[in-house]
Amino acid sequence: LSVIETVEPRIAGAIRSELADQRDSLKLIASENYASPAVLLTMGNWLSDKYAEGTVGHRFYAGCQNVDTVETVAAEHARELFGAEYAYAQPHSGIDANLVAFWSILAHRVETPALEEFGVRQINDLSEADWETLRKRFGEQRALGMSLDAGGHLTHGFRPNISGKMFHQRSYGTDPETQLLDYDEVARIAREFKPLVLIAGYSAYPRRINFAKMAEIADEVGATLMVDMAHFAGLVAGKVFTGDEDPVPHADIVTTTTHKSLRGPRGGLVLAKQEYAADVDRGCPMVLGGPLSHVMAAKAVALAEARRPEFRTYAQNVADNAKALADGFLSRGAKLVTGGTDNHLVLLDVAGYGLTGRQAESALLDSGIVTNRNAVPNDPNGAWYTSGVRLGTPALTSRGFGPDDFDRVAELIIGVLTKTTPTTTKSGAPGKAKYTISDGIAEATHQAAEELL
Ligand code: PLP
Repeated sequence: LSVIETVEPRIAGAIRSELADQRDSLKLIASENYASPAVLLTMGNWLSDKYAEGTVGHRFYAGCQNVDTVETVAAEHARELFGAEYAYAQPHSGIDANLVAFWSILAHRVETPALEEFGVRQINDLSEADWETLRKRFGEQRALGMSLDAGGHLTHGFRPNISGKMFHQRSYGTDPETQLLDYDEVARIAREFKPLVLIAGYSAYPRRINFAKMAEIADEVGATLMVDMAHFAGLVAGKVFTGDEDPVPHADIVTTTTHKSLRGPRGGLVLAKQEYAADVDRGCPMVLGGPLSHVMAAKAVALAEARRPEFRTYAQNVADNAKALADGFLSRGAKLVTGGTDNHLVLLDVAGYGLTGRQAESALLDSGIVTNRNAVPNDPNGAWYTSGVRLGTPALTSRGFGPDDFDRVAELIIGVLTKTTPTTTKSGAPGKAKYTISDGIAEATHQAAEELL
């Protein structure tokens, strides 16, 4: 840091302050974790300076032998860890991994006429009618994914995201009573809509998915099954999710981030059945440029860590701790989406405390507890203010928290929420953003949080 200090002290300060924040608060954001020193160190070195567009042994730059080693090792660990036929370690993030997957599926499944078929040699010679033909060929393709308010991710076809513009898109939700995924309903929509891609996976659904059932639905309607396991990859790697709950044997393509429950560097990964391998391998130049070689190296290190027996214990603890957190809430009268959890996350409905998700998130932050607000199914407050708070156990489990600690975390959270009141607006109605916390509660909770850490 002293080296950085001499160049730009504000950045050195931000790094120091981030370390202090992460050390001194309860990190409950379900998508965050603490990467190991080995992973962090692998990202800060000379691999960062190297360009390596292309694939292993087939680069558009000279001198890529070390990056070839890095990419080969990362892919090998990914294949071995997840039992995948093929692995692609280049995507810079989860969004990139999904883009690679979507374009690979389109390239694999939708025939693109060659320029010669239009009787031209250059793209500039295509007529407006030719372009219309091409546009239709892609624009008519359909994707079906989980809706955002049921817990799906914005890359699963949300309109403002490019996935919602690339595809003619529809979504499936959850059962209005149980808030659980209703496979019969997914099958019904799939039969009617006939998607090219059926997307499974989530950011905020606190339950496991039966991927064998999803694969059956995809097969029946001729869809490619794509699973985005960004959130729960650590539970797959740690063999908490096995059999029908392991997406890898059932899906054609599986995407993930490497930085959430998998505890690696920020990045993405695509796993695929051999049938899709050649298309996924064209991620660069299809949607990617030069890979982040230093991050691919850190992915390899994190995947090697995840292949150790200790990681299985960690993953099981993540799930056990989530259950303890959920039980801690339920025993204190809180309402949880789906009534509980069987993965790494809990979705707390805060409407019963008279709060929006935004007020709850801010009041908890004031008290040293870092969470994020999240919509609950059919949320009356929409995606900005929301009525829920999402909490996950991967990060604090990395810090050695056990079930008793998570019960205490639940107690602290409920303690803050019951002492937080929305500030009324001019008309006298409760506002959606501002709030007050009873005297001393935020400070006392912060201190209790620090004692737990
Ligand atoms: N897919 C899912 C299910 C996610 O939850 C996320 C991140 O929140 C992503 C993809 C995107 O990952 P990234 O932020 O690395 O682009």
